[in-house]
Amino acid sequence: MDYRFTPAGEEFRNEFKSWLEKTFPANEPPPKLDTVEDRINAYRSYQKKLSDGGYAGIRYPRELGGRGGTLMEEIIVTEELNPYAIAHAANVNSIGFGMGLPTIFAVGTEEQKKDLIPKLLDGTHIWCQAFSEPNSGSDAASISTRAEKKDGYYLVNGQKVWITSAQYADMCMLLVRTNPDVPKHKGLSYLLMDMKLPGVEVRPIKQISEESEFNEIFIDNVKVPENMLVGAENEGWGIAITTLMFERIMGDLSMAKMFIQEFYQLLEMAREMKRGGQPVLNDYMFRQKLAQIYIELMVLKYNGYRSAGKAMKGGMPGPEGSIGKLLWSETHKKMTELAMEIQGMANQLMKGSPLAVEDGYWQYLFLTSKSGTIAAGTSEILKNIIGERVLGLPKDMARALFAKKER
Ligand SMILES: Cc1cc2nc3c(=O)[nH]c(=O)nc-3n(C[C@H](O)[C@H](O)[C@H](O)COP(=O)(O)OP(=O)(O)OC[C@H]3O[C@@H](n4cnc5c(N)ncnc54)[C@H](O)[C@@H]3O)c2cc1C
Repeated sequence: MDYRFTPAGEEFRNEFKSWLEKTFPANEPPPKLDTVEDRINAYRSYQKKLSDGGYAGIRYPRELGGRGGTLMEEIIVTEELNPYAIAHAANVNSIGFGMGLPTIFAVGTEEQKKDLIPKLLDGTHIWCQAFSEPNSGSDAASISTRAEKKDGYYLVNGQKVWITSAQYADMCMLLVRTNPDVPKHKGLSYLLMDMKLPGVEVRPIKQISEESEFNEIFIDNVKVPENMLVGAENEGWGIAITTLMFERIMGDLSMAKMFIQEFYQLLEMAREMKRGGQPVLNDYMFRQKLAQIYIELMVLKYNGYRSAGKAMKGGMPGPEGSIGKLLWSETHKKMTELAMEIQGMANQLMKGSPLAVEDGYWQYLFLTSKSGTIAAGTSEILKNIIGERVLGLPKDMARALFAKKER
């Protein structure tokens, strides 16, 4: 397998790099990214610049505000943008870009595409995705938020939880139950809900990291216009799966890039740390653990290229995408645990403490990395998918073993 980019790809990379250097000069101070408002403002201005430069929505048609380019060009843009601090502001709308955009492009109506895609590409819109509910997470098809068809609109009532970015999102990909009288996967529909509609209330949830990344959404008699239904009524489950598959594909590559960069920062931190007057890295155990993390990050990167290669040949992201998600979330958790181990007693000191290592940067990552193994499919669910749908193992091992004994 050849992982090098083609000469045309490398030419595109050089062209994009020189545009980047001109548009975001290295001698300009980076934007403030301290508060949520800072990040939203930075995101909107950064996305507008990409859009004006012709680098937003690389694979989307020009008439919708995209570039009409290739997946390879999109990967190159993702790779080259990553070291720029400003690119981290893009996380503000990673759901709109990674999930909303490809879903609407694949299955939206012409009217939805024309109206919504340009607003996502030029930074006007930020989206969130609301599937999970208090009694429905891993088993997303068991949701109970209800939508009743009325004259020209759906009347929606229910509650969603853990919804990332909902506190500042303009639009929401909403999974609702339109028919409660059929098996659970069959009575679902997929709506796009304007977050400013009367009856939508968002309450942020405070996390262990002190941030409020996700939220509860209370939906009380909200009227969603019928032209905001995506796909056919009661066929929302297939569309929800499409959205979740798209979440995987670019996710692995951008996570690989981000965590490899973070790994080199960890290495720098480790070189500075001492234990009993001796450099921490004199201890072979730490060297081995660092090497293991590096190996896993390389596996993540090349597995990401493999999935992207498949997609370039026209394949849809499949269940093997679960390998990448499992790997990035578990490796990142291990990496931040190792950062804590390397700091020894100093790992108790958080941001704001004068003696905290790197002002508590690694403590913050240690706390937030846990959520990666829950969001977008827990590690246990991903292992089930890999077992059943990649390796072809029986669905329920316990039942299969029991049946064998009885025979
Ligand atoms: C940071 C973060 C961001 C999120 N953002 C969003 C968002 O934007 N939109 C959204 O809709 N949701 C979001 N979620 C919710 C997320 O999708 C759910 O938390 C996740 O699907 C798990 O559901 P749950 O929390 O209800 O746990 P449960 O499904 O109740 O699971 C509890 C435990 O049981 C295990 N378990 C469950 N079923 C099985 C099984 N069949 N086999 C083996 N083990 C099993 C799970 O692995 C887990 O350990 C987010 C979550 C996090 C942490």
